[in-house]
Amino acid sequence: MANKTNTGKVYLVGAGPGDLGLVTLRAKECIETADVIVYDHLANPEMLGWARDDAEIIYAGKKAADHTLSQDEINKLIVAKARNGAKVVRLKGGDPFVFGRGAEEARAIADAGITFEIVPGITSAIAGPAYAGIPITSRAENSHVTFFTGHEDPSKSESAIDYAALARLGGTQVMLMGVERIAQITREMLAHGVRADLPVALVRWATTGRQQTLVGTLQNIAQRVVETGFESPAVAVFGDVVALRKDLNWYERRPLSGRRIVVTRTRKQAGTLTCRLRGLGADVIELPTIRIEPPTDLREFGQLVQDAHMYDWIVFTSPNGVEKFFEMFFKLYDDAREIGGVKIAAIGPTTAQRVRDFHLHVDLQPEEFVAEAVVREFQKQGGVENLRILLARAEKARDVLPKQFSKLGAIVDEAIAYRTVPETRDVTGARRRFLEEGADLITFTSSSTVENFLALGLAWPRGMQVASIGPITSQTARDHGLKVEIEARRHDIDGLVDAIRKHFGSEK
Ligand code: SAH
Repeated sequence: MANKTNTGKVYLVGAGPGDLGLVTLRAKECIETADVIVYDHLANPEMLGWARDDAEIIYAGKKAADHTLSQDEINKLIVAKARNGAKVVRLKGGDPFVFGRGAEEARAIADAGITFEIVPGITSAIAGPAYAGIPITSRAENSHVTFFTGHEDPSKSESAIDYAALARLGGTQVMLMGVERIAQITREMLAHGVRADLPVALVRWATTGRQQTLVGTLQNIAQRVVETGFESPAVAVFGDVVALRKDLNWYERRPLSGRRIVVTRTRKQAGTLTCRLRGLGADVIELPTIRIEPPTDLREFGQLVQDAHMYDWIVFTSPNGVEKFFEMFFKLYDDAREIGGVKIAAIGPTTAQRVRDFHLHVDLQPEEFVAEAVVREFQKQGGVENLRILLARAEKARDVLPKQFSKLGAIVDEAIAYRTVPETRDVTGARRRFLEEGADLITFTSSSTVENFLALGLAWPRGMQVASIGPITSQTARDHGLKVEIEARRHDIDGLVDAIRKHFGSEK
């Protein structure tokens, strides 16, 4: 929490080169606890999903054409927020002290007398070559590495790059920034006597699903950049080590490399599918369509949870219902035994698993969420007449189940545990990316993901195909006029991933 009486603190944090797996544990911790986060164009905005819901998130830009904050404004903003007592996290792409003006920001913070911490990050200067399959050192090829920037301070009248020194040094040379000026830079290097056939690689959007590598020689790389329309941000590697890529290129050869795939589950549930697809090389856009909010009448929910021990049965119809129920339960009680002798029914295997996660036994587990089937299971157990049943469910859920129970003589109360609302925020920039860059494939893991996605009313990108987890989801998609190209044979996440992999494997 922001402490208004004390000065805050600033964390200058390296966000790594893009891959979320390359963020340090310390950086993640800082993001999770920050009051204010000021982030850069090159910091992967997906990590903002780790931030607290009430954190203030500020985009500081630094993309050439954007009208965002000037360096001076950024410095002032950080200082002002910290003076106000906030824990400020300044997220910078790669490592905060490798180019990109982190040094200036640190100076401004120090000059203002504010305490600060530096959290190093994995720089693109190292990760870029690694993900392109280029070892920056190799015993046979070189014994030193130079990092330099191709970006010139516009206020300097002479070139800041000492080409004569670079030519003499040899070894591996890694350049950040300046891809736009690659023609001048290679021309100068040649003029200073570097050999024309020196291998050169440019790696753009390194370590992300958008990574592309362009290989050439000092002589022809500028030409290739023009021909292919290769754009920044990119890291350039000059040196014989580039040749090792032909054997060591691992990242761009994975089965789903170059495929952009949309995951439509809620942020909390997206994890496994996203991970599996990313692991196979896909560029995953997580586009949550709904989010879970507290029910309209939280007080009533609390009351029913408090009285849960007075029922004969609690029936859970969804994993969210289980979570919200016990979240409330453990706010009210600090002893699990307060649940008493009530029996527990859970519909569907995931719901049952969530109950077991709380170390509670599931007494009844109907596999199908068809009211008739659920009721039939209860009948098998001796009927529901005069039994008190507490049904934990979502707001606006269909009311077939409570009606059926009542008809058979049960006394039913409904504990409205949560409601789902359309996800309208776009903290991670996923929606903007989806609209700007499109996608190759969208995944649907339930009928509601189809409906919720379409309800957002986003334009359908050209050529985007549909993958569905099973026939019911596929039917919902078709009912809405979609064509389903991929349907999982096994109706779970693994099955879906297998189907996607096969589909693209056969297309290649
Ligand atoms: N502090 C950053 C560098 C900031 S300067 C770091 O340590 O990585 C910005 C330059 O970094 C870009 O012009 C580009 O050359 C490079 N860069 C940053 N992230 C990159 C990425 N994911 N792929 C390729 N180049 C990247």
